[in-house]
Amino acid sequence: MSQLITYKIVSDEKGKVKKAARTACNFWNRFVSPKSSVVIRLGVFDEDSDTIAMAYEPHRRAGVVYGRVDFNAKYLARYDDLEIAGTVVHEIGHTLGFGWAKWMTLFDEETGKFKPRSTKAVPALESMLVETDGDEGTALAHWDEDTFDKELMTGYEDASEHVLPVTIAVMKLLGHRVKSTLPKKTSLRKLLRECSAITFKRKAEAKKLDLDLFRETPLLETVPHPRPRGRRGRGRRR
Ligand SMILES: [Zn+2]
Repeated sequence: MSQLITYKIVSDEKGKVKKAARTACNFWNRFVSPKSSVVIRLGVFDEDSDTIAMAYEPHRRAGVVYGRVDFNAKYLARYDDLEIAGTVVHEIGHTLGFGWAKWMTLFDEETGKFKPRSTKAVPALESMLVETDGDEGTALAHWDEDTFDKELMTGYEDASEHVLPVTIAVMKLLGHRVKSTLPKKTSLRKLLRECSAITFKRKAEAKKLDLDLFRETPLLETVPHPRPRGRRGRGRRR
């Protein structure tokens, strides 16, 4: 059995979380065969705040990596399916390794530049820069916001994001197998629209995983991130 990326819904709001989860898992399953299966645990919370979502640190158990994202119900009603799916795709990106052990060995923490070993394996990393600003959870876990602004894996979410081929290609260095490369910079909405139409054919495999396993872990990031000093707080641009 090959590994896969799937989800567990704990609570929902009119099926919106489930729809987003399916689309987001289809996105990553299309590009990557992960080293270990991934279960992203999704739920809803009620809070009168500006927080759209909260993501928690992934943890590993019995060869499965577990991620967790909770959405604020008040925003679920306001955002469309693809916007919610976009947030889930970003958070699964972290669960697949953006910001964790292996990722941290790929670049220089001072400059954000990738080491020769990394650029040799994935040449597109030569023009990439890791975010060195921001609070914990933002710095060193994303592409540099100033340079890559609307890319999926920058730390600040935008209304019209895109995906760079390197975001898929770097997965190889995080231990995963890239099944399908992304040929060029592509609109995230376009990719998500395609992925929302895919029927998930691996339900039997997904059911074999321990989907219910839960462990409390520290908060990884909130969406939107608080802007670091000196930057205009734009939160999530509409
Ligand atoms: Zn992030």
